[in-house]
Amino acid sequence: MTRVVVVGAGPAGLAAAAHAVRAGAGVTILDQSDAPGGQYHRQPPGAPHGFEAVLSRCTWWPESTVWAVDGKRVHVLRGPADGTGRQRHVLEPDALVLATGAHDRTLPFPGWQLPGVFTAGAAQALAKGDRVAVGKRVLVAGAGPFLLPVAESLLAVGAGVLAVLEANPASTVRKGWSWRDARKAGELARYAAALARHRVPYHLGRTVVEARGDDRVREAVTARLRADWSVVPGTERTYEVDAVCVGHGFASQPELAVAAGCALDGGFVRVGDDQRTSVAGVFAAGELTGIGGAVAAAAEGAVAGCAAAGGVPDRALLRERDRTRAFAARLAAAHPIGAAWPGWLREDTIVCRCEETTAGELTRAAGDPAAPGPHALKLGTRAGLGPCQGRMCGAAVSALCGTAERHHRPIAQPIRLGELADAKEIEA
Ligand SMILES: Cc1cc2nc3c(=O)[nH]c(=O)nc-3n(C[C@H](O)[C@H](O)[C@H](O)COP(=O)(O)OP(=O)(O)OC[C@H]3O[C@@H](n4cnc5c(N)ncnc54)[C@H](O)[C@@H]3O)c2cc1C
Repeated sequence: MTRVVVVGAGPAGLAAAAHAVRAGAGVTILDQSDAPGGQYHRQPPGAPHGFEAVLSRCTWWPESTVWAVDGKRVHVLRGPADGTGRQRHVLEPDALVLATGAHDRTLPFPGWQLPGVFTAGAAQALAKGDRVAVGKRVLVAGAGPFLLPVAESLLAVGAGVLAVLEANPASTVRKGWSWRDARKAGELARYAAALARHRVPYHLGRTVVEARGDDRVREAVTARLRADWSVVPGTERTYEVDAVCVGHGFASQPELAVAAGCALDGGFVRVGDDQRTSVAGVFAAGELTGIGGAVAAAAEGAVAGCAAAGGVPDRALLRERDRTRAFAARLAAAHPIGAAWPGWLREDTIVCRCEETTAGELTRAAGDPAAPGPHALKLGTRAGLGPCQGRMCGAAVSALCGTAERHHRPIAQPIRLGELADAKEIEA
């Protein structure tokens, strides 16, 4: 029997596990979280998740963090992340499906480090997972359709949403969206109805360019943007707020794939027609290969799981995957990141929040002929050397300094020195 390990129990990983089981494989699916579902199916603690049927046919490892991959050897820490006594395990499957998803992407702007400024995903996770509203007067801004479910989740827990601001103008957004996809049209109509019910305006071509406050955010300055996201002078407007949620799409989490030796294209894992990566026996699915939403992630997962188990994905699976991929491409065209956003920054605007590296320090270092290359830039300015290891600022630093973003992190998740030193690694 082919042994398949699936890393990540989001829409992609769960679909991969279901299809690998169906194709006759023995499947272990693991996730660092204590419940399956990933970002999309996040539930309050104890709520039914609805994936019992598939998990009962696999070996299911919750609270299991993959901290390293070498070849197809998967190094796992099992146990609560904030508890002691986590055990080290190593799995060596015949095939590995990586479905580790994405994290929020947020561009810097003056004041974004103030308490009360949240990434859109964090605000939504608090609302969906913990029923916590981040504020009473909240502005939601950035780019992409994700802003709509964020606003919906905030409204559902009683937050007051002042407005939702999409940075791209209507002419750009229209380029990508079409009403071809009935499921998406229905979802959009639901969000539009929620905004209308709560009288929340949705503005295109406007964004938050500054957050102000001493101890925490008190005001947000918004401005009208041109299609390239340069600010139209004189269009600034100030909102009194107690929270701001900003999201500029998502960045994939390719560390494990990079550690396994998989090739990337533009930050995403390169896959072939059956989700095979450039490394034999390693497959990738979901937001790791491109941002397209939960339905696209599940469609890719289905193909990956079937192929990883040694099956041949049928035409219907491939057609669904291709249809959702095409939707993802339209989405990217509808909600691009405008190249002129660095114009919002000032000399003292913090870009790397972990190390408090400013835009001025970065541009000076990038222009210094004595310190060429991303490695010297990182060591010289400390950008990306803090706890998040460049996951938050990496894309912004690359855009500001004209360098390539680095995803090589041999230790993909935090591990205590005691755990690392522990020679006992259980083979499974
Ligand atoms: C914070 C956030 C909130 C989102 N909310 C929505 C929403 O409400 N609606 C919507 O349409 N889209 C939402 N998205 C977009 C969403 O990511 C996708 O549409 C969908 O969930 C992608 O599925 P996936 O399986 O590729 O990844 P994910 O759903 O992200 O699943 C990846 C899984 O891998 C696990 N994982 C990652 N690294 C490791 C590791 N090293 N070891 C073990 N496990 C690991 C994670 O815990 C996670 O459960 C959200 C994204 C983010 C980042």
